[in-house]
Amino acid sequence: MNTRSIRFRLSAWHAVLFAGVFALLGALLYAKVKNYLDDALLETQARRARQIAETLLANPAATGEEYVVRQIRSLYAPELGNRFIRVTRADGSVMYVSGPPDDQSFDPSKVPAASQRREAEFTRQESLADGRSMLIAAFRAASAGGGPYLVEVGTSSEPVDRFARHLLVLLALGYPLVVALAGVGGYIVARNALRPVETIAVKAEIITLHNLSERLPVANTGDELERLSIALNHMITRLDEALGNSRRFVADASHELRTPLTVIQGELEAIASEENLAADIRDRVGSILEEVERLGKIVQKLFALSRLDAGEAQEEWVRLDLAELVASTAEQMLLLAEDKRIGLAPPSGKAVHVMGDRARLKQVVVNLVDNAVKYTPPGGSIQLRVEAEGPNAMFEVADTGVGIPVADIPHVFERFFRVDRDRSSNIDGAGLGLSIVKSICTAHGGQVDVESAVGSGSRFRVTLPLAGSN
Ligand code: ADP
Repeated sequence: MNTRSIRFRLSAWHAVLFAGVFALLGALLYAKVKNYLDDALLETQARRARQIAETLLANPAATGEEYVVRQIRSLYAPELGNRFIRVTRADGSVMYVSGPPDDQSFDPSKVPAASQRREAEFTRQESLADGRSMLIAAFRAASAGGGPYLVEVGTSSEPVDRFARHLLVLLALGYPLVVALAGVGGYIVARNALRPVETIAVKAEIITLHNLSERLPVANTGDELERLSIALNHMITRLDEALGNSRRFVADASHELRTPLTVIQGELEAIASEENLAADIRDRVGSILEEVERLGKIVQKLFALSRLDAGEAQEEWVRLDLAELVASTAEQMLLLAEDKRIGLAPPSGKAVHVMGDRARLKQVVVNLVDNAVKYTPPGGSIQLRVEAEGPNAMFEVADTGVGIPVADIPHVFERFFRVDRDRSSNIDGAGLGLSIVKSICTAHGGQVDVESAVGSGSRFRVTLPLAGSN
């Protein structure tokens, strides 16, 4: 799981937030319930203490303390109700204290006397030696004819404590469940909300300069992602228009330049062929002619590239044998290699069929073999291979030439890129041959790449999808 993804971070925040809120609410609930139950229990004890004080101890001088004790025993039966009742005289002596309760939850004789408190009515929680505690309400009876008696009624807080403990256990058990649910819930919500991002990313990944007419999917969710994909689509439209404009410019310019260049070339050739032309003028006309021819080739290549950019390679698609095409083209180029005393080994092996434009694929072979001849010193050799490799046809040109520096390898397919202009200065070319190869390969659904080491040679590999059944 990617811990830096928005999905993960949102669900983690969700879980942390829920954990905090649940802990706070749980603590509040626990405190409130415990308080409420303690208060309710104390209120009951206080009511009884008041009753005893107001009814039985209203006039103990007249009724006698014995009567009061008897009445408490018969009316309240504290031992049966697990209750504690103690009546203390003003001098601190105990007039009555209840016996041990049935449930043995406390020992009445060990309940400490109320401290020196003078209020008429008060409550307290008394911790007993065995770790238990009691809730006690006290009421001071201002009896006629006798000092104020202090009536204490109490009970063990154990039932309330037990309930609070159960509540705490429930909250503690529910806590991880709620946090896990919040995390999973947050993850699902975030995943659903961000799903369009995945689709947009996948589509954006496959939009290149060659299919700028395609657009990103727009989910009609009305949210920020819909806005984002619409904005990105507007951007792609603008890029598409800008690229279209520049391609049209190159296509128009190269097209318009071809005719005047042909005329200039013709005129120069005519001048050069005049008999009574001074030798130095002939030389100068000759070198201008060379430059015009070079310019003509560049314009020709630019025109070819602009037509490839416009997708024209797909006009004449046929099923053809790549091995045969490479072999026949290599044969035509054999003289070129022999002139430089370079061995050119044509491919050996069986037919490998691809779908494509014959003239354009021939151009690939010509450009690669031409480069191999240009950049291999005399005495070297060039090896051609055509084979079927899985779903692809593979065409390889390996030479023993000068090689390409590692830093330049990523750039050799760029337009007008030439490795080390000094090295290439006396070699014919303008840095467009390999970009034409790349454009043709891309237009055929294939690709071209290169492995090279300076001094030991280069290996260009073209892969194209195989045609149906071979
Ligand atoms: P150019 O017209 O300069 O040959 P390319 O586009 O065909 O242009 O090639 C670009 C650069 O790649 C060339 O300048 C050359 O330095 C280098 N290159 C191409 N093919 C080879 C090769 N077989 N061996 C060494 N360098 C090569």
